[in-house]
Amino acid sequence: DLYRPSRANSRGLEFGHRATLAALTRGIAAATLPAAPAEPLVDARPLGGLERKVVSPIDGHTVAGTAFDAAPDAADSAIEAAACGFASWSRTPAAERARLLDRIAGLYEDNRDRLMALLAVEAGKTLADGLAEVREAVDFCRYYAAEARRLFTVDRLMPGPTGEDNRWRHRGRGVFVCISPWNFPLAIFTGQVVAALAAGNTVVAKPAEQTPLIAALAVRLMHEAGIPANAVNLVPGDGTVGAHLVAHRQVAGVAFTGSTKTAWRINRALAAKDGPIVPLIAETGGINAMIVDATALPEQVSDDVITSAFRSAGQRCSALRLLFLQDEVADRMIEMIAGAARELKLGDPRDPATDIGPVIDAEARDRLAAHVARMQREQEVLFAGSLPGGVLAGGTWMAPHIVALRSAEELTEEIFGPILHVVRWKSGELDRVIRSIAATGYGLTLGVHSRIDAVHRQVADALAIGNIYVNRNMIGAVVGTQPFGGSGLSGTGPKAGGPDYLTRFAQEQVISVNT
Ligand code: GLU
Repeated sequence: DLYRPSRANSRGLEFGHRATLAALTRGIAAATLPAAPAEPLVDARPLGGLERKVVSPIDGHTVAGTAFDAAPDAADSAIEAAACGFASWSRTPAAERARLLDRIAGLYEDNRDRLMALLAVEAGKTLADGLAEVREAVDFCRYYAAEARRLFTVDRLMPGPTGEDNRWRHRGRGVFVCISPWNFPLAIFTGQVVAALAAGNTVVAKPAEQTPLIAALAVRLMHEAGIPANAVNLVPGDGTVGAHLVAHRQVAGVAFTGSTKTAWRINRALAAKDGPIVPLIAETGGINAMIVDATALPEQVSDDVITSAFRSAGQRCSALRLLFLQDEVADRMIEMIAGAARELKLGDPRDPATDIGPVIDAEARDRLAAHVARMQREQEVLFAGSLPGGVLAGGTWMAPHIVALRSAEELTEEIFGPILHVVRWKSGELDRVIRSIAATGYGLTLGVHSRIDAVHRQVADALAIGNIYVNRNMIGAVVGTQPFGGSGLSGTGPKAGGPDYLTRFAQEQVISVNT
């Protein structure tokens, strides 16, 4: 059955149309920077905090804006404001909550160029990535609005004996703490917050310390759309303030996207508290593989590998890390992929000719560089791209790399950047490949390139992986089309942008009346 709540995904832009692209780049250039500061916003009031400059990863000196990191008492005030706001927001009819989410979507579309300017300067996103991200954020708002109408606007009558009226319904849980990552600073930030709101919760949002400005703009647009001031509160800062929020006794739920290690820490902190058992919705990392057999179409594989491994500088949790090439086609495939990788242009993400922007910060760059150095010592580096120079030299760059591994087991952790690892396999060894993938413990995305249907089925049946992509690239899950999220070390589910997401933010209630 086609599952389709009534709504449409946001529209794209034709970058090949010169006037369209020119208008977009003009709009982005005109967006005023530095942006409005990212302060703790409690009941929509700026509280101040520890001041720091947010510097662009593009050149290492352009100031994107100023952040004021929240002190613990500001974080407490944010939770108290959200707790206070819960009484009326949770009683706001779901249809009205949905209407406000639709208004946020409209405001995001109206502010597309401002949002894209910040996505480029604060997070290093290319035009294609920035546009896709604004669209995904818009889609989350409209999808969850439609889902709230479907799930929460009517109480469901349950079957029962004559003389008894049984109604099942959902209500908000209370204050949700939403902790989001820098790699989708608008889309994932928005997705978590609006899902919590749609289900009737109020929110304290803690964006990644690298990308507070875009989060602050998003919260201002949410308030402008009519979300009550105390229903969404913003707490910028690093992991310390995140830990402080999670430990607060008034928290009713936590939505987190980020590393598996941080998810463990949050889970332990929640478990250590007395009081209500607090649910954690965690979406974490992956050591994502693609299996290519000898029947695959080489040109298509090459395109899809380049997109999956290197787009967004490999800074997607869905990105391809481990490419399994069947021996017969491996040499030819590697030559094609390396040839295509050589054509990728690293540069200012606002330049339409740029394919890859910077990585998020110096810490990420240094970690990736250390990994490449280790690969040079221990494995074989087959391809290394080159870095941009000139004014961009001060930015945080990592060139695309292709590394041949002796075996899949050599890759023991998620490498969050444009580094592709290749492993060869021989005909008859598909089971071994499947075991290697299962042994990573992660289960987020998987690519399969094969023209044999039985191979797709065998792989999908053997591996509990959340999103499997066959004969295409393996990133860019579309809201409502590819509900996104994994299992095992990759997260708890439910899938973002899918039909089971909102109910996990809600509390069930049954009212049985003897009539
Ligand atoms: N949903 C994104 C995709 O499919 C990835 C999200 C993430 O990196 O956290 O590419």
